[in-house]
This record gives sequence, C-alpha cells and structure tokens, in this order.
Amino acid sequence: MAAKISLVISLLIPSFVFSQLKPKSLSNDTFILKNQTLYIMKKLGIGVRKNINKDDALFFGTYNSRFISCVYGQDAIAPYYRSKGLDTNERWYIKPIINLSSTLDSIIRNKKDTTHLFYIDAFSSVIHELTHYYQNTYTGFDSTYIKGTLENFQEHVEQPVELEAYEAEAYYFLFFADKKALKKIMELKIPKKERFKILYNSQHKLLYPNDSILMLK
Ligand SMILES: [Zn+2]
Repeated sequence: MAAKISLVISLLIPSFVFSQLKPKSLSNDTFILKNQTLYIMKKLGIGVRKNINKDDALFFGTYNSRFISCVYGQDAIAPYYRSKGLDTNERWYIKPIINLSSTLDSIIRNKKDTTHLFYIDAFSSVIHELTHYYQNTYTGFDSTYIKGTLENFQEHVEQPVELEAYEAEAYYFLFFADKKALKKIMELKIPKKERFKILYNSQHKLLYPNDSILMLK
C-alpha cells in the first residue's frame, strides 16, 4: 500500500525523482527506477496504461546469463499469461516480475566491475523493460512481432512498442552519460521519429564508437 501511495505522489511531481540524483549517482532501488521510467515516459510523450495502480507489487527476478540483458519484451513480465486484460490497453498485472540476467543484476548491485558507460547501459536495459511494463502501446505475442536479430535490427527497433522502450532507454542513458547532448536533442524542433533516431544513435555511438552495426539509418 505504501508503494502505491508514493507512486501517486511521484506521478504528480515527477521531476522530484531526478532532482534528488546527481548525474553520477545511479540507483538500483526498484522504486526509484520505476519513478524514473514514468518521468522519462512523460518527457517523451509515451502513453502510460491507465491501470498501473491496479497491479500487484512489481518484483525483480534474475536468470542465469553472462550477457548484459533483461528478458526482452513484454514477456519479461512474468507470469504474463496471468495478466488481466492481456489483449487490451487496460491491462494490469498479477505478481509481475521483471527478470534481469545474473550479469546485469551483479553490475547494478556493484558486485561486478565494468566501464562507466556499460554500467549506465546496464541500468538503461532495466528502464527499457520498465517502459514495456508501463506503456499503453501494446503488441501481443502474435506472429507480427519482429524479434531483434542483427539482420532485421532496424525493423525490430522501429515497431511502436519497441521504439518507445528504446527511446526511454536512450533518454536515461544520455541523462547519465552525456546530459548536455540530451538537452540539445530534446530542444530540437523535429518530428518525433527523427528525435528517436538521434537519441538512439547517440547512445550507441558512445557505447560502440567503432561499430555501426546497431546504428539506425
Ligand atoms: Zn523491448
């Protein structure tokens, strides 16, 4: 109950969450991560599903993997098949869990060393999944969903449901990695999709300066 009350407060004053944080102090606190996600979604104009306050408390789980990843997509929300109104934008969730790889979990809990940028990127992956969790845009698990592979990466990223998650992720990443660049991008008077590409590519250029394979055209 306490979490729900504070969630409502944070929705009313979302900027409070970031104003508490200095640019280099990232937090693995679930409550702060959730509020940061909602703050970013508001900044980017990403719709939040209306029944988020009906959800059970959100937990973070882990699975064994050496990769820095979360379980991708809305199936990260387990057990999603028990969700209410699964095929609607009014859906809400019973016992939702976001699963992080064991590597990602150790990084965000400061148990594993990495570079500063990949440290931020680890948190960004969590923001990506949390955006899926809260977003109003919904794609079921049907055959139209395009899974990300190196061959079709752009098509994967540009599906509305993924575009929103990658955009929120990039915003978070740049907020901590290059706040000046983020500010400049957000001030550009350009179509939303163009802004998305710049946000996304700026994140990937910082992470992989010599590799353009994941860059958008
Ligand atoms: Zn995704």
